[in-house]
Amino acid sequence: MIASDLRSGVEQLGDMIAEASVIVPFTGAGISTECGIPDFRSPGGLWTRNRPIPFDEFVASADARNEAWRRRFAMEPIFAAAKPGRGHRALAALYKAGKIPAIVTQNIDNLHQVSGFAGDHVVELHGNTTYARCIGCGQAYDLAWVKQRFDASGRAPDCAVCDEPVKTATISFGQAMPEQAMQRATELAQQCDLFVAIGSSLVVWPAAGFPLLAKNSGARLVIINNEPTEQDDLADLVIRHDIGETLGPFVGN
Ligand code: NAD
Repeated sequence: MIASDLRSGVEQLGDMIAEASVIVPFTGAGISTECGIPDFRSPGGLWTRNRPIPFDEFVASADARNEAWRRRFAMEPIFAAAKPGRGHRALAALYKAGKIPAIVTQNIDNLHQVSGFAGDHVVELHGNTTYARCIGCGQAYDLAWVKQRFDASGRAPDCAVCDEPVKTATISFGQAMPEQAMQRATELAQQCDLFVAIGSSLVVWPAAGFPLLAKNSGARLVIINNEPTEQDDLADLVIRHDIGETLGPFVGN
């Protein structure tokens, strides 16, 4: 059911939150747009400006790796300046109140952790762009380590341990999904009684399967997104409004 207006949507969401004992939020890029980080698919989003570099291309081509790192460093002022928005803060308040055991996110911006979620309670389906990893041995690197070498040589550095390419710790198209995160997200979707999809176009799979799984496992499903999604018909409540406006009332003091 689509909320007739923002106010009634917020009211119904408030009732559902009060009635729920285990809430699992599932977030996408839309929760971070008010923090200055563009999403993928809105007009002016990242997708419209840069074709994503698939994983096999990153592995096969030094030029692709250089381009991937050039883009990442070009985005750094935006990621570095971003602070949690009203959506992040509202979810952090519900987490502190014991209503949310963990959050499932497609985002890579680390803002749920910054807003107060323990790292263990953020299930990152697509990884995290605030640090890097070797794609061979998994060795973690600070972005500063990569940048220093990139600036000095103009080339994306390889791992100091095993010589394989170093990549942001994100999951690219064509890259295997992180098994443990997928398993935890599956359990959370099956165990919650309220699942809230926030700011996701729900077109990136397998991540988009989690709202469906939660609904099929008996949870109520809420979708908060300013444009329609393919799963709106499944949802108990659809709030087609701005995320900050919708979740702002739940931020608390
Ligand atoms: P998406 O870009 O496909 O969809 C975002 C949705 O949020 C769109 O439908 C858009 O209309 C909506 N939206 C944007 N701002 C909103 C607002 N203020 N209020 C209400 N709705 C709003 O994003 P996705 O579904 O997360 O999938 C894209 C992939 O891109 C993800 O896998 C993610 O890893 C990656 N990504 C992450 C970030 C980030 O970490 N912040 C940013 C861009 C892309």
